[in-house]
Amino acid sequence: MIIDLHSHSTRSDGKESPTEVFEQAALAGVNILALTDHDTTSGWDEAGVAAKRLGLGFVPGIEVTTRAKVQREGHERFISVHMLAYLPDPNHAALASVLGDSVSTREIRAKAMVDLLAKDYDITWDLVLEQLTEGATIGRPALADALVQMGVVSHRSEAFESILSKNGGYYIPAETADVFDAIRLIREAGGVPIIAHPLGGAPDNLDRGDLPQEHFELLIAGGLAGFEVYHREVPQVAREWLLDLADKHDLIVTGSSDYHGEHGKPNRLGENHTSVEMFERILAMASGVQAQL
Ligand code: AMP
Ligand code: FE
Ligand code: FE
Ligand code: ZN
Repeated sequence: MIIDLHSHSTRSDGKESPTEVFEQAALAGVNILALTDHDTTSGWDEAGVAAKRLGLGFVPGIEVTTRAKVQREGHERFISVHMLAYLPDPNHAALASVLGDSVSTREIRAKAMVDLLAKDYDITWDLVLEQLTEGATIGRPALADALVQMGVVSHRSEAFESILSKNGGYYIPAETADVFDAIRLIREAGGVPIIAHPLGGAPDNLDRGDLPQEHFELLIAGGLAGFEVYHREVPQVAREWLLDLADKHDLIVTGSSDYHGEHGKPNRLGENHTSVEMFERILAMASGVQAQL
């Protein structure tokens, strides 16, 4: 049984429609897939129809953009935290409003980044919009696609490693919901909040550039349900530490691909999966909307 609980479509920064994502999942031998577009539920209906036709299970989800305020070396800093929300009620007004705010601040931030980039490159806002399906949640991947189309870089990852990286000179952080508020709202909406790729990209030092370890205990006290431990960006040392913490607090542990399409990101459907036991714990905790199994 292959259960993959993290994927993206053209409703955010994936390269394939929800239907195509489920078609690819069927080909990859995935049995149950969650669609978790950034800050939107707009792909759920289409995903549900495709999953039914293909005989796959569908888990409605969202990857909510949040940030945590932390103290580091006496300074206040914001750290971006991606919070997966499984099976929340999409009509919960406060949660829907946070998602709407995130979509609009992401647009303002992307426009500001385009303004900075336009000083050095021939990029325009229209060219960025051409990379997106109407209504899609915008992020750096759309800017990367515009730079690819312009021939400035040859693929998305090259843009992320250079021009669009945090130190690339054009990066602006997104001003999004506070992580504690997001956890509370997801739970109020009957959803299950699980941190996506926790401590991702901190290969040899758990304490560098990501959430301080003591912050995790605060998030757990605030209602966090678990961690996406098995994800290609979570290094081994972080996995071991997270598994211990999950054990101590009896939390849910998941594994997922974070698929963004054949040409969106190297992540392949089903490359990591979630155990049946852990999936059943998610189902048992959720009360917002039903999974389609
Ligand atoms: P943003 O949230 O706008 O700062 O952009 C970050 C998003 O870009 C993440 O959610 C990833 O899905 C995506 N991303 C990060 N690195 C890459 C990459 N190398 N190639 C494609 N997409 C990426
Ligand atoms: Fe993404
Ligand atoms: Fe993410
Ligand atoms: Zn993701």
